[in-house]
Amino acid sequence: MHGKNQIGNELSATGKKTFTVKNPATNLDLIGDFHECTIGELNKATKLANDALDLYASKTNKQKAKFLKQIVKEIKKDKSQILIRFWEESGLSMERGKVELKRTLDQLKNFAKYICSKKYNLNTIAEGTKKLPYLEKRMIPIGTVAVFGASNFPFAYSTVGGDTAAALAAGCPVIVKSHQMHAGTGELISDCVIRAANFCNIPNGVFSNLNASSIKVGSELVANEFVKAVGFTGSIAGGTALKKIGDERDSPIPVFAEMGSVNPVVMLPSALTDPKIKWSKTLLKSITTDGGQFCTKPGLLFMYDSVESRNFLRGIGEKIVKMTPAVLLGESISRPFYKKRNKLKHVKKVMFFEAPASDLPNRGQQSLLVVTDETFNKHEFLKEEVFGPHCTAVLCKNKRELKKIISNLQGQLTGTINGSKEDLSKNQDLVLLLENLAGRIIFNGVPTGVRVVAAQTHGGTFPASTDSRFTAVGDFSIYRFLRPVTYQNFPKA
Ligand code: NAP
Repeated sequence: MHGKNQIGNELSATGKKTFTVKNPATNLDLIGDFHECTIGELNKATKLANDALDLYASKTNKQKAKFLKQIVKEIKKDKSQILIRFWEESGLSMERGKVELKRTLDQLKNFAKYICSKKYNLNTIAEGTKKLPYLEKRMIPIGTVAVFGASNFPFAYSTVGGDTAAALAAGCPVIVKSHQMHAGTGELISDCVIRAANFCNIPNGVFSNLNASSIKVGSELVANEFVKAVGFTGSIAGGTALKKIGDERDSPIPVFAEMGSVNPVVMLPSALTDPKIKWSKTLLKSITTDGGQFCTKPGLLFMYDSVESRNFLRGIGEKIVKMTPAVLLGESISRPFYKKRNKLKHVKKVMFFEAPASDLPNRGQQSLLVVTDETFNKHEFLKEEVFGPHCTAVLCKNKRELKKIISNLQGQLTGTINGSKEDLSKNQDLVLLLENLAGRIIFNGVPTGVRVVAAQTHGGTFPASTDSRFTAVGDFSIYRFLRPVTYQNFPKA
Protein backbone atom coordinates (compact mmCIF):
# COMPACT_ATOMS: atom_id res chain seq x y z
CA MET A 1 0.00 0.00 0.00
CA HIS A 2 1.48 3.37 -0.96
CA GLY A 3 -1.30 5.27 0.85
CA LYS A 4 -1.01 8.24 -1.51
CA ASN A 5 -3.61 10.30 -3.30
CA GLN A 6 -3.89 9.64 -7.00
CA ILE A 7 -3.94 13.10 -8.59
CA GLY A 8 -4.30 12.34 -12.27
CA ASN A 9 -1.26 10.28 -13.21
CA GLU A 10 0.77 11.33 -10.16
CA LEU A 11 0.87 9.90 -6.67
CA SER A 12 0.83 12.65 -4.08
CA ALA A 13 1.23 12.86 -0.30
CA THR A 14 1.80 16.50 0.58
CA GLY A 15 -0.27 16.49 3.78
CA LYS A 16 0.96 15.36 7.21
CA LYS A 17 -2.27 13.73 8.39
CA THR A 18 -2.57 9.98 7.84
CA PHE A 19 -5.13 7.36 8.79
CA THR A 20 -5.38 3.58 8.82
CA VAL A 21 -8.19 1.12 8.07
CA LYS A 22 -9.30 -1.49 10.59
CA ASN A 23 -10.27 -5.08 9.92
CA PRO A 24 -13.85 -5.06 11.30
CA ALA A 25 -13.67 -8.72 12.30
CA THR A 26 -10.72 -8.10 14.66
CA ASN A 27 -10.64 -4.30 15.12
CA LEU A 28 -6.91 -4.44 14.31
CA ASP A 29 -5.22 -1.93 12.00
CA LEU A 30 -4.47 -3.19 8.50
CA ILE A 31 -1.27 -2.40 6.61
CA GLY A 32 -1.20 1.05 5.02
CA ASP A 33 -1.00 4.67 6.17
CA PHE A 34 -3.31 6.71 4.00
CA HIS A 35 -2.47 10.36 3.43
CA GLU A 36 -5.44 12.64 3.91
CA CYS A 37 -5.92 14.72 0.78
CA THR A 38 -5.04 18.41 1.25
CA ILE A 39 -7.01 21.27 -0.25
CA GLY A 40 -4.02 21.93 -2.52
CA GLU A 41 -4.16 18.36 -3.84
CA LEU A 42 -7.92 18.55 -4.27
CA ASN A 43 -7.61 21.79 -6.26
CA LYS A 44 -4.93 20.22 -8.42
CA ALA A 45 -7.11 17.20 -9.16
CA THR A 46 -10.15 19.30 -10.12
CA LYS A 47 -8.05 21.65 -12.30
CA LEU A 48 -6.43 18.69 -14.08
CA ALA A 49 -9.85 17.13 -14.63
CA ASN A 50 -11.21 20.36 -16.05
CA ASP A 51 -8.22 20.71 -18.37
CA ALA A 52 -8.70 17.11 -19.56
CA LEU A 53 -12.45 17.44 -20.19
CA ASP A 54 -12.52 18.61 -23.82
CA LEU A 55 -9.84 16.21 -24.95
CA TYR A 56 -11.49 13.24 -23.24
CA ALA A 57 -14.97 14.23 -24.41
CA SER A 58 -13.70 14.37 -27.99
CA LYS A 59 -12.50 10.73 -27.86
CA THR A 60 -14.72 8.47 -29.90
CA ASN A 61 -17.08 6.12 -28.10
CA LYS A 62 -14.92 3.28 -29.33
CA GLN A 63 -11.88 4.82 -27.61
CA LYS A 64 -13.82 5.35 -24.38
CA ALA A 65 -15.09 1.76 -24.58
CA LYS A 66 -11.52 0.54 -25.03
CA PHE A 67 -10.53 2.39 -21.85
CA LEU A 68 -13.40 0.79 -19.88
CA LYS A 69 -12.47 -2.66 -21.16
CA GLN A 70 -8.80 -2.07 -20.33
CA ILE A 71 -9.80 -1.23 -16.73
CA VAL A 72 -11.47 -4.66 -16.61
CA LYS A 73 -8.26 -6.31 -17.86
CA GLU A 74 -6.08 -4.47 -15.33
CA ILE A 75 -8.38 -5.37 -12.43
CA LYS A 76 -8.35 -9.02 -13.51
CA LYS A 77 -4.52 -8.99 -13.37
CA ASP A 78 -4.60 -7.86 -9.69
CA LYS A 79 -7.75 -9.78 -8.76
CA SER A 80 -6.27 -11.93 -5.97
CA GLN A 81 -4.74 -9.12 -3.95
CA ILE A 82 -7.79 -6.91 -4.53
CA LEU A 83 -10.10 -9.63 -3.20
CA ILE A 84 -7.93 -10.22 -0.13
CA ARG A 85 -7.94 -6.53 0.74
CA PHE A 86 -11.73 -6.38 0.18
CA TRP A 87 -12.20 -9.27 2.59
CA GLU A 88 -9.88 -7.77 5.21
CA GLU A 89 -11.41 -4.30 5.04
CA SER A 90 -15.10 -5.15 4.78
CA GLY A 91 -15.52 -8.31 6.86
CA LEU A 92 -17.66 -9.59 3.97
CA SER A 93 -16.96 -13.07 2.67
CA MET A 94 -14.57 -13.86 -0.17
CA GLU A 95 -17.50 -15.42 -2.04
CA ARG A 96 -19.45 -12.17 -1.81
CA GLY A 97 -16.33 -10.30 -2.97
CA LYS A 98 -16.08 -12.47 -6.08
CA VAL A 99 -19.75 -11.92 -6.94
CA GLU A 100 -19.52 -8.16 -6.38
CA LEU A 101 -16.31 -7.84 -8.38
CA LYS A 102 -17.82 -9.75 -11.29
CA ARG A 103 -20.82 -7.44 -11.23
CA THR A 104 -18.49 -4.42 -11.21
CA LEU A 105 -16.51 -5.68 -14.20
CA ASP A 106 -19.77 -6.52 -15.99
CA GLN A 107 -20.96 -2.95 -15.41
CA LEU A 108 -17.84 -1.60 -17.11
CA LYS A 109 -18.22 -4.06 -20.00
CA ASN A 110 -21.93 -3.24 -20.34
CA PHE A 111 -21.21 0.48 -20.68
CA ALA A 112 -18.43 -0.23 -23.19
CA LYS A 113 -20.96 -2.18 -25.26
CA TYR A 114 -23.79 0.29 -24.79
CA ILE A 115 -21.91 3.41 -25.92
CA CYS A 116 -20.83 1.62 -29.11
CA SER A 117 -24.34 0.37 -29.89
CA LYS A 118 -27.02 1.99 -32.03
CA LYS A 119 -29.20 2.34 -28.91
CA TYR A 120 -26.88 5.09 -27.69
CA ASN A 121 -27.88 7.80 -30.11
CA LEU A 122 -27.11 11.21 -28.69
CA ASN A 123 -28.11 13.34 -31.66
CA THR A 124 -31.62 14.52 -32.60
CA ILE A 125 -32.22 16.54 -35.74
CA ALA A 126 -35.00 18.88 -36.83
CA GLU A 127 -34.62 19.61 -40.55
CA GLY A 128 -34.85 23.24 -41.53
CA THR A 129 -37.34 24.76 -43.95
CA LYS A 130 -37.29 28.02 -45.91
CA LYS A 131 -38.76 29.73 -42.87
CA LEU A 132 -37.40 27.65 -39.99
CA PRO A 133 -33.78 26.93 -39.03
CA TYR A 134 -32.08 23.54 -38.96
CA LEU A 135 -31.64 22.28 -35.36
CA GLU A 136 -29.37 19.59 -34.08
CA LYS A 137 -29.54 18.52 -30.46
CA ARG A 138 -26.54 16.74 -28.98
CA MET A 139 -26.06 15.22 -25.56
CA ILE A 140 -22.66 16.29 -24.26
CA PRO A 141 -20.73 15.29 -21.11
CA ILE A 142 -21.82 17.35 -18.11
CA GLY A 143 -18.21 17.90 -16.93
CA THR A 144 -16.17 16.59 -14.03
CA VAL A 145 -18.10 14.20 -11.77
CA ALA A 146 -17.27 13.70 -8.08
CA VAL A 147 -18.03 10.13 -6.95
CA PHE A 148 -18.75 8.97 -3.39
CA GLY A 149 -19.09 5.22 -2.80
CA ALA A 150 -20.81 3.39 0.05
CA SER A 151 -19.17 1.27 2.76
CA ASN A 152 -21.25 -1.82 1.92
CA PHE A 153 -20.21 -2.06 -1.74
CA PRO A 154 -16.41 -1.60 -1.91
CA PHE A 155 -16.52 -2.58 -5.61
CA ALA A 156 -19.92 -2.10 -7.20
CA TYR A 157 -20.76 1.32 -5.69
CA SER A 158 -17.28 2.64 -5.15
CA THR A 159 -14.00 3.59 -6.90
CA VAL A 160 -14.91 2.15 -10.28
CA GLY A 161 -18.50 1.18 -9.54
CA GLY A 162 -21.65 2.17 -11.38
CA ASP A 163 -21.27 5.94 -11.02
CA THR A 164 -17.64 6.03 -12.18
CA ALA A 165 -18.35 3.65 -15.06
CA ALA A 166 -21.35 5.71 -16.21
CA ALA A 167 -19.47 9.02 -15.95
CA LEU A 168 -16.38 7.75 -17.82
CA ALA A 169 -18.61 6.21 -20.49
CA ALA A 170 -20.39 9.56 -20.88
CA GLY A 171 -17.03 11.29 -21.45
CA CYS A 172 -16.70 12.92 -18.03
CA PRO A 173 -13.54 13.05 -15.90
CA VAL A 174 -14.07 11.45 -12.47
CA ILE A 175 -12.71 12.36 -9.05
CA VAL A 176 -13.40 9.70 -6.44
CA LYS A 177 -13.61 10.57 -2.75
CA SER A 178 -12.32 7.23 -1.56
CA HIS A 179 -14.31 5.60 1.25
CA GLN A 180 -12.26 5.65 4.44
CA MET A 181 -13.51 2.18 5.43
CA HIS A 182 -12.04 0.57 2.31
CA ALA A 183 -9.27 2.98 1.34
CA GLY A 184 -6.92 0.07 0.51
CA THR A 185 -9.38 -1.59 -1.89
CA GLY A 186 -9.92 1.86 -3.41
CA GLU A 187 -6.18 2.35 -3.88
CA LEU A 188 -5.68 -1.02 -5.59
CA ILE A 189 -8.57 -0.38 -7.97
CA SER A 190 -7.39 3.17 -8.61
CA ASP A 191 -3.93 1.83 -9.61
CA CYS A 192 -5.67 -0.35 -12.22
CA VAL A 193 -7.63 2.60 -13.63
CA ILE A 194 -4.45 4.66 -14.03
CA ARG A 195 -2.62 1.79 -15.76
CA ALA A 196 -5.57 1.46 -18.13
CA ALA A 197 -5.67 5.22 -18.75
CA ASN A 198 -1.98 5.29 -19.64
CA PHE A 199 -2.30 2.25 -21.89
CA CYS A 200 -5.21 3.88 -23.77
CA ASN A 201 -3.70 7.38 -24.00
CA ILE A 202 -6.43 8.85 -21.85
CA PRO A 203 -5.60 12.48 -20.92
CA ASN A 204 -3.97 13.09 -17.55
CA GLY A 205 -6.60 14.10 -14.97
CA VAL A 206 -9.51 12.04 -16.28
CA PHE A 207 -9.30 9.98 -13.09
CA SER A 208 -8.22 10.91 -9.56
CA ASN A 209 -8.69 9.16 -6.22
CA LEU A 210 -8.61 11.19 -3.01
CA ASN A 211 -8.14 9.75 0.49
CA ALA A 212 -10.07 11.24 3.38
CA SER A 213 -11.01 10.29 6.90
CA SER A 214 -13.18 13.35 7.50
CA ILE A 215 -16.10 14.90 5.66
CA LYS A 216 -14.09 18.06 4.87
CA VAL A 217 -12.51 16.72 1.67
CA GLY A 218 -15.87 15.50 0.31
CA SER A 219 -17.60 18.76 1.16
CA GLU A 220 -14.85 20.84 -0.49
CA LEU A 221 -14.99 18.60 -3.54
CA VAL A 222 -18.73 19.17 -4.05
CA ALA A 223 -18.24 22.91 -3.55
CA ASN A 224 -15.34 23.09 -6.05
CA GLU A 225 -16.04 25.25 -9.11
CA PHE A 226 -14.68 22.66 -11.56
CA VAL A 227 -16.97 19.87 -10.34
CA LYS A 228 -20.17 19.80 -12.38
CA ALA A 229 -22.11 16.82 -10.97
CA VAL A 230 -21.98 14.35 -8.08
CA GLY A 231 -22.72 10.63 -7.97
CA PHE A 232 -23.27 9.61 -4.34
CA THR A 233 -24.20 6.27 -2.76
CA GLY A 234 -24.58 6.17 0.99
CA SER A 235 -26.64 7.31 3.95
CA ILE A 236 -29.55 9.74 3.89
CA ALA A 237 -27.61 12.06 6.22
CA GLY A 238 -24.52 12.08 3.95
CA GLY A 239 -26.47 12.41 0.69
CA THR A 240 -28.68 15.25 1.90
CA ALA A 241 -25.67 17.13 3.37
CA LEU A 242 -23.85 16.97 0.02
CA LYS A 243 -27.01 17.81 -1.94
CA LYS A 244 -27.33 20.98 0.18
CA ILE A 245 -23.74 21.95 -0.66
CA GLY A 246 -24.42 21.31 -4.37
CA ASP A 247 -27.63 23.41 -4.25
CA GLU A 248 -26.07 26.31 -2.35
CA ARG A 249 -23.03 26.84 -4.58
CA ASP A 250 -22.86 30.07 -6.60
CA SER A 251 -23.43 27.78 -9.59
CA PRO A 252 -25.59 24.90 -8.26
CA ILE A 253 -24.92 21.41 -9.61
CA PRO A 254 -26.95 18.18 -9.66
CA VAL A 255 -26.14 15.81 -6.80
CA PHE A 256 -27.45 12.37 -7.73
CA ALA A 257 -27.60 10.71 -4.33
CA GLU A 258 -28.78 7.13 -3.89
CA MET A 259 -29.51 6.73 -0.23
CA GLY A 260 -31.12 4.51 2.38
CA SER A 261 -34.48 2.79 2.19
CA VAL A 262 -36.64 0.49 4.34
CA ASN A 263 -38.10 -1.37 1.36
CA PRO A 264 -41.62 -2.24 2.59
CA VAL A 265 -42.80 -5.79 1.89
CA VAL A 266 -46.53 -6.53 2.01
CA MET A 267 -47.39 -10.18 2.67
CA LEU A 268 -50.98 -10.71 1.51
CA PRO A 269 -52.83 -13.54 3.32
CA SER A 270 -52.47 -15.86 0.33
CA ALA A 271 -48.65 -15.62 0.57
CA LEU A 272 -48.66 -17.07 4.08
CA THR A 273 -50.46 -20.20 3.00
CA ASP A 274 -48.65 -20.73 -0.32
CA PRO A 275 -46.79 -24.05 0.03
CA LYS A 276 -44.84 -23.48 -3.24
CA ILE A 277 -42.68 -20.64 -1.94
CA LYS A 278 -40.86 -20.98 1.36
CA TRP A 279 -41.46 -17.37 2.29
CA SER A 280 -40.03 -17.50 5.80
CA LYS A 281 -36.73 -18.89 4.50
CA THR A 282 -36.62 -16.49 1.54
CA LEU A 283 -37.37 -13.44 3.68
CA LEU A 284 -34.94 -14.41 6.41
CA LYS A 285 -32.16 -14.76 3.84
CA SER A 286 -32.99 -11.38 2.34
CA ILE A 287 -32.99 -9.71 5.78
CA THR A 288 -29.75 -11.25 7.04
CA THR A 289 -27.41 -12.05 4.11
CA ASP A 290 -24.09 -10.19 4.43
CA GLY A 291 -25.22 -8.81 7.77
CA GLY A 292 -28.34 -7.25 6.22
CA GLN A 293 -26.09 -4.47 4.93
CA PHE A 294 -27.95 -3.78 1.71
CA CYS A 295 -29.82 -0.63 0.72
CA THR A 296 -32.51 -3.01 -0.59
CA LYS A 297 -32.84 -5.12 2.57
CA PRO A 298 -36.48 -5.58 3.58
CA GLY A 299 -36.69 -3.41 6.69
CA LEU A 300 -40.48 -3.40 7.14
CA LEU A 301 -42.86 -6.34 6.72
CA PHE A 302 -46.59 -5.69 6.64
CA MET A 303 -49.32 -8.25 7.13
CA TYR A 304 -52.80 -8.48 8.57
CA ASP A 305 -53.02 -9.50 12.21
CA SER A 306 -54.06 -13.16 12.31
CA VAL A 307 -53.01 -16.45 13.89
CA GLU A 308 -51.33 -17.39 10.57
CA SER A 309 -49.33 -14.15 10.50
CA ARG A 310 -48.15 -14.51 14.09
CA ASN A 311 -47.17 -18.15 13.50
CA PHE A 312 -45.36 -17.18 10.33
CA LEU A 313 -43.34 -14.49 12.15
CA ARG A 314 -42.69 -16.82 15.08
CA GLY A 315 -41.25 -19.29 12.56
CA ILE A 316 -38.79 -16.65 11.29
CA GLY A 317 -37.98 -15.61 14.87
CA GLU A 318 -37.19 -19.17 15.94
CA LYS A 319 -34.58 -19.36 13.19
CA ILE A 320 -33.12 -15.96 14.12
CA VAL A 321 -32.44 -16.94 17.74
CA LYS A 322 -30.21 -19.76 16.47
CA MET A 323 -28.11 -17.60 14.14
CA THR A 324 -24.47 -16.60 14.61
CA PRO A 325 -24.11 -12.81 14.68
CA ALA A 326 -22.71 -11.34 11.47
CA VAL A 327 -19.53 -9.29 11.09
CA LEU A 328 -20.63 -5.75 10.29
CA LEU A 329 -18.54 -3.42 8.14
CA GLY A 330 -17.01 -1.54 11.03
CA GLU A 331 -17.64 0.46 14.15
CA SER A 332 -19.35 3.30 12.26
CA ILE A 333 -21.96 0.76 11.14
CA SER A 334 -22.24 -1.43 14.28
CA ARG A 335 -22.56 1.53 16.67
CA PRO A 336 -25.62 3.14 14.98
CA PHE A 337 -27.07 -0.33 14.34
CA TYR A 338 -27.19 -1.07 18.09
CA LYS A 339 -28.23 2.48 18.99
CA LYS A 340 -31.26 2.29 16.70
CA ARG A 341 -32.08 -1.30 17.57
CA ASN A 342 -31.92 -0.68 21.31
CA LYS A 343 -34.33 2.21 20.92
CA LEU A 344 -36.88 0.17 19.00
CA LYS A 345 -36.54 -2.82 21.33
CA HIS A 346 -38.19 -0.72 24.01
CA VAL A 347 -41.43 0.04 22.19
CA LYS A 348 -44.57 -1.89 23.10
CA LYS A 349 -44.06 -5.12 21.18
CA VAL A 350 -45.96 -8.24 20.23
CA MET A 351 -42.77 -10.29 19.86
CA PHE A 352 -39.01 -9.72 19.66
CA PHE A 353 -36.39 -12.23 18.55
CA GLU A 354 -32.64 -11.80 18.44
CA ALA A 355 -29.55 -13.92 17.86
CA PRO A 356 -27.23 -14.50 20.85
CA ALA A 357 -24.84 -11.67 21.74
CA SER A 358 -21.14 -11.98 20.88
CA ASP A 359 -18.01 -10.66 22.58
CA LEU A 360 -16.23 -10.35 19.25
CA PRO A 361 -15.95 -6.88 17.68
CA ASN A 362 -18.58 -5.45 15.32
CA ARG A 363 -20.88 -8.46 15.49
CA GLY A 364 -24.48 -7.66 14.53
CA GLN A 365 -27.18 -9.73 16.21
CA GLN A 366 -29.90 -10.57 13.74
CA SER A 367 -33.31 -9.47 15.03
CA LEU A 368 -37.02 -9.28 14.30
CA LEU A 369 -39.41 -6.93 16.08
CA VAL A 370 -43.16 -7.48 15.75
CA VAL A 371 -45.49 -4.58 16.57
CA THR A 372 -49.11 -3.63 15.98
CA ASP A 373 -50.14 -0.82 13.62
CA GLU A 374 -51.02 1.31 16.66
CA THR A 375 -47.49 1.07 18.06
CA PHE A 376 -46.00 1.68 14.63
CA ASN A 377 -48.01 4.87 14.18
CA LYS A 378 -46.90 6.14 17.59
CA HIS A 379 -43.15 6.11 16.88
CA GLU A 380 -41.79 7.95 13.87
CA PHE A 381 -38.36 6.26 14.27
CA LEU A 382 -39.88 2.86 13.43
CA LYS A 383 -40.12 4.10 9.82
CA GLU A 384 -36.37 4.70 9.59
CA GLU A 385 -33.74 2.45 8.04
CA VAL A 386 -31.86 0.23 10.51
CA PHE A 387 -28.79 -0.58 8.44
CA GLY A 388 -27.87 -4.13 9.42
CA PRO A 389 -29.63 -7.48 10.05
CA HIS A 390 -32.87 -6.21 11.56
CA CYS A 391 -36.48 -6.19 10.34
CA THR A 392 -39.65 -4.82 11.90
CA ALA A 393 -42.95 -6.57 11.15
CA VAL A 394 -46.18 -4.63 11.51
CA LEU A 395 -49.48 -6.40 12.14
CA CYS A 396 -52.29 -4.33 10.65
CA LYS A 397 -55.90 -4.52 11.80
CA ASN A 398 -57.31 -4.10 8.31
CA LYS A 399 -56.64 -2.79 4.84
CA ARG A 400 -57.57 0.78 5.77
CA GLU A 401 -54.80 0.82 8.40
CA LEU A 402 -52.30 -0.81 6.04
CA LYS A 403 -53.02 1.74 3.32
CA LYS A 404 -52.75 4.62 5.76
CA ILE A 405 -49.34 3.40 6.92
CA ILE A 406 -47.96 2.85 3.42
CA SER A 407 -49.19 6.28 2.29
CA ASN A 408 -47.27 7.84 5.15
CA LEU A 409 -43.96 6.15 4.40
CA GLN A 410 -41.10 8.13 2.89
CA GLY A 411 -39.69 7.51 -0.59
CA GLN A 412 -38.25 4.03 -1.16
CA LEU A 413 -35.93 2.24 -3.55
CA THR A 414 -38.33 -0.69 -3.69
CA GLY A 415 -41.80 -1.84 -2.67
CA THR A 416 -42.82 -5.51 -2.62
CA ILE A 417 -46.18 -7.26 -2.63
CA ASN A 418 -46.40 -11.04 -2.22
CA GLY A 419 -49.41 -13.32 -2.64
CA SER A 420 -51.47 -15.10 -5.26
CA LYS A 421 -52.27 -13.47 -8.61
CA GLU A 422 -55.92 -13.31 -7.56
CA ASP A 423 -54.97 -11.53 -4.35
CA LEU A 424 -52.78 -9.14 -6.34
CA SER A 425 -55.59 -8.15 -8.67
CA LYS A 426 -57.80 -7.42 -5.65
CA ASN A 427 -55.08 -5.19 -4.24
CA GLN A 428 -54.17 -2.91 -7.12
CA ASP A 429 -54.69 0.05 -4.82
CA LEU A 430 -51.74 -1.16 -2.73
CA VAL A 431 -49.59 -1.47 -5.84
CA LEU A 432 -50.42 2.13 -6.74
CA LEU A 433 -49.44 3.28 -3.26
CA LEU A 434 -46.08 1.51 -3.60
CA GLU A 435 -45.65 3.04 -7.06
CA ASN A 436 -45.95 6.51 -5.49
CA LEU A 437 -42.92 5.76 -3.33
CA ALA A 438 -40.54 3.46 -5.10
CA GLY A 439 -38.46 3.04 -8.25
CA ARG A 440 -38.90 -0.74 -8.39
CA ILE A 441 -42.01 -2.70 -7.43
CA ILE A 442 -41.67 -6.42 -6.89
CA PHE A 443 -44.35 -9.10 -7.04
CA ASN A 444 -43.63 -12.43 -5.36
CA GLY A 445 -40.01 -11.82 -4.56
CA VAL A 446 -37.64 -9.99 -2.26
CA PRO A 447 -36.01 -6.61 -2.87
CA THR A 448 -32.37 -7.70 -2.49
CA GLY A 449 -30.59 -8.60 -5.73
CA VAL A 450 -30.41 -5.75 -8.25
CA ARG A 451 -30.06 -6.87 -11.86
CA VAL A 452 -27.76 -4.62 -13.88
CA VAL A 453 -29.78 -4.27 -17.08
CA ALA A 454 -31.35 -1.49 -19.10
CA ALA A 455 -34.77 -2.30 -17.66
CA GLN A 456 -33.58 -1.61 -14.11
CA THR A 457 -34.65 1.40 -12.02
CA HIS A 458 -32.49 1.82 -8.97
CA GLY A 459 -33.80 4.99 -7.39
CA GLY A 460 -37.06 6.26 -5.99
CA THR A 461 -38.68 9.31 -4.49
CA PHE A 462 -36.84 11.29 -1.82
CA PRO A 463 -35.12 10.27 0.43
CA ALA A 464 -34.35 7.03 -1.45
CA SER A 465 -32.75 9.27 -4.04
CA THR A 466 -32.46 12.99 -4.71
CA ASP A 467 -33.82 12.75 -8.26
CA SER A 468 -36.51 10.16 -8.91
CA ARG A 469 -36.30 10.74 -12.69
CA PHE A 470 -33.07 8.78 -12.95
CA THR A 471 -31.71 5.34 -12.21
CA ALA A 472 -28.27 4.73 -10.68
CA VAL A 473 -28.01 1.23 -12.17
CA GLY A 474 -28.18 0.03 -15.77
CA ASP A 475 -27.55 1.64 -19.17
CA PHE A 476 -29.80 4.63 -18.52
CA SER A 477 -27.75 5.74 -15.50
CA ILE A 478 -25.39 7.35 -18.02
CA TYR A 479 -27.97 10.08 -18.74
CA ARG A 480 -27.31 11.61 -15.31
CA PHE A 481 -23.97 12.75 -16.64
CA LEU A 482 -24.99 14.15 -20.02
CA ARG A 483 -26.68 17.44 -20.86
CA PRO A 484 -28.41 18.56 -24.03
CA VAL A 485 -27.14 21.35 -26.29
CA THR A 486 -28.97 22.42 -29.44
CA TYR A 487 -27.03 23.85 -32.40
CA GLN A 488 -29.28 26.14 -34.41
CA ASN A 489 -28.64 27.01 -38.02
CA PHE A 490 -25.14 25.51 -38.11
CA PRO A 491 -24.00 23.99 -41.39
CA LYS A 492 -24.53 20.21 -41.20
CA ALA A 493 -20.84 19.55 -41.69
P1 NAP B 1 -22.14 7.27 4.36
O1 NAP B 1 -21.69 7.30 5.77
O2 NAP B 1 -23.15 8.29 3.96
O3 NAP B 1 -20.80 7.43 3.49
C1 NAP B 1 -20.79 7.47 2.07
C2 NAP B 1 -19.66 8.40 1.61
O4 NAP B 1 -20.08 9.76 1.77
C3 NAP B 1 -18.37 8.28 2.40
O5 NAP B 1 -17.30 8.51 1.52
C4 NAP B 1 -18.47 9.39 3.42
O6 NAP B 1 -17.24 9.90 3.85
C5 NAP B 1 -19.18 10.46 2.62
N1 NAP B 1 -19.97 11.36 3.47
C6 NAP B 1 -20.95 11.00 4.32
N2 NAP B 1 -21.48 12.07 4.90
C7 NAP B 1 -20.81 13.14 4.42
C8 NAP B 1 -20.91 14.57 4.62
N3 NAP B 1 -21.79 15.07 5.48
N4 NAP B 1 -20.08 15.36 3.94
C9 NAP B 1 -19.16 14.85 3.10
N5 NAP B 1 -19.03 13.53 2.86
C10 NAP B 1 -19.84 12.69 3.50
O7 NAP B 1 -22.75 5.85 3.97
P2 NAP B 1 -22.12 4.40 4.24
O8 NAP B 1 -22.14 4.08 5.68
O9 NAP B 1 -20.84 4.32 3.53
O10 NAP B 1 -23.13 3.42 3.51
C11 NAP B 1 -24.26 2.85 4.14
C12 NAP B 1 -25.51 3.56 3.68
O11 NAP B 1 -25.54 3.58 2.26
C13 NAP B 1 -26.81 2.86 4.08
O12 NAP B 1 -27.74 3.82 4.49
C14 NAP B 1 -27.28 2.18 2.80
O13 NAP B 1 -28.66 1.97 2.72
C15 NAP B 1 -26.81 3.18 1.78
N6 NAP B 1 -26.64 2.58 0.46
C16 NAP B 1 -27.44 2.98 -0.55
C17 NAP B 1 -27.33 2.40 -1.81
C18 NAP B 1 -28.23 2.83 -2.93
O14 NAP B 1 -27.96 2.45 -4.06
N7 NAP B 1 -29.28 3.57 -2.69
C19 NAP B 1 -26.37 1.41 -2.03
C20 NAP B 1 -25.53 1.03 -0.98
C21 NAP B 1 -25.68 1.63 0.25
P3 NAP B 1 -16.52 9.32 5.14
O15 NAP B 1 -16.08 7.96 4.78
O16 NAP B 1 -15.38 10.25 5.36
O17 NAP B 1 -17.53 9.36 6.25
